[in-house]
Amino acid sequence: MGNLHNASTESLQQLDALHHLHPFTDTVALNKKGTRVIKRADGVYLWDTDDNKYLDGMAGLWCVNVGYGRKEIMQAAFQQMQQLPYYNTFFQTSHPPVIELSARICELTPEGLNRVFYCGSGSEANDTVVRMVRHYWSSMGKPGKKIIISRENAYHGSTMAGASLGGMGPMHKQGGLPIPDIEHIMQPHWYKHGFSESEEDFGLRAAKALQQRIEEVGAENVAAFIAEPVQGAGGVIVPPSTYWPEIQRICKAFNILLVADEVICGFGRTGQWFGSDSFQIEPDLMAIAKGLSSGYLPIGGVVVSDRVAEGLERGGDFNHGYTYSGHPVCAAAALANIEIMQRERIVENAGNTLAPYFQERLARFAEHPFVGQTRGTGMLGAIQLSPDKSGNAGFEKDGDIGSACRDAASENGLVMRAVDDAMILSPPLIITTDQIDELFAIAERSVEATWQRFQSGELGS
Ligand SMILES: *Cc1c(COP(=O)(O)O)cnc(C)c1O
Repeated sequence: MGNLHNASTESLQQLDALHHLHPFTDTVALNKKGTRVIKRADGVYLWDTDDNKYLDGMAGLWCVNVGYGRKEIMQAAFQQMQQLPYYNTFFQTSHPPVIELSARICELTPEGLNRVFYCGSGSEANDTVVRMVRHYWSSMGKPGKKIIISRENAYHGSTMAGASLGGMGPMHKQGGLPIPDIEHIMQPHWYKHGFSESEEDFGLRAAKALQQRIEEVGAENVAAFIAEPVQGAGGVIVPPSTYWPEIQRICKAFNILLVADEVICGFGRTGQWFGSDSFQIEPDLMAIAKGLSSGYLPIGGVVVSDRVAEGLERGGDFNHGYTYSGHPVCAAAALANIEIMQRERIVENAGNTLAPYFQERLARFAEHPFVGQTRGTGMLGAIQLSPDKSGNAGFEKDGDIGSACRDAASENGLVMRAVDDAMILSPPLIITTDQIDELFAIAERSVEATWQRFQSGELGS
């Protein structure tokens, strides 16, 4: 524990402003306001340095699936540190935690995915994906297959390749992105792009965009298609039921590898172990991170199918890896996390009991006059605020109302994220039904208060 453990909020904020650059943040605006300093957490709750308590409706950043305060994970990490705090997996070496974790992950992943490559995060997992799928095709005698097709408004991380795969305009504007040979097609966001047609028709149209792009650039140049089973950071966008089967068909028909970015969906978020299980996707590769260790320590990976593994084996050395690939302490923490999930049947309970309750509470929100749509699946939800109850119009300026609602929720003791004007929920999977009631009671109060301010003209129209 550092020396500042009992320092005042104000002095912590001042030091933070002086020396800490925050991710995805306007530093000047933040430092004017001061950061919220989070001091401790337990279960689904967080406390800040002024002892305000918050229900964490976002499970950190979509990751603390088993909740905070799990002694078993801490002990596993501590014991592993004593035994072997670090060793690499590069030079024909391995160690027990990474061996056990790999076997455990492959028991859980969809059939045919039996090898794991490790890294430290979801972004690194997707960087690995880019090099891996290109190297795969090269090893198979098709070095021309390089293009990776992704989607607008996708999130695949913040490294050069991760952000390039992602379809976030504001990210592409900074740092000279995207890197070459990445293509983006439309996202399956019915509320935004398909409002006047049925969800089923729209789902097919959005999937057909993949086929069109493959035909435009030539299948002989396309390595893979990558997508989140459910887009998370883009605003919890659940694709129509017709979308994934058609995507799957197109990938098979054109011999394109299908990559499922399971960084959010994996490890129970959708009510099954993987989003690929929930949507009957048969991926060739899966990126994992976040819920793999419930965020207790940083670890990510790419799980590959036997087909991809065999192709890579033909290619000899794969010249790629990270100092912390398969870090023993992170692997031990991930193993303890998975053991908890299995022993407490967290995924089954989330899927069978919590998710139906959570989704029912979420759906009720759609009646509110300030809500244009609710959407969700499993333990993911979005409440789309809109000034236009019967249509799908947004506010004059994207995001201001959402931010106001987020701040109101925070004042009321709930962490809820705003993606433009959609309020996002992704609570720990160990939340109880009483705590779900508490979550929605605060969310309702916060949306109501924001609506009142909007109606009175206090917030932009
Ligand atoms: C968070 C996220 C990433 C990036 O993971 P990091 O650990 O932040 O690098 C990649 N893909 C998806 C779908 C994510 O939600």
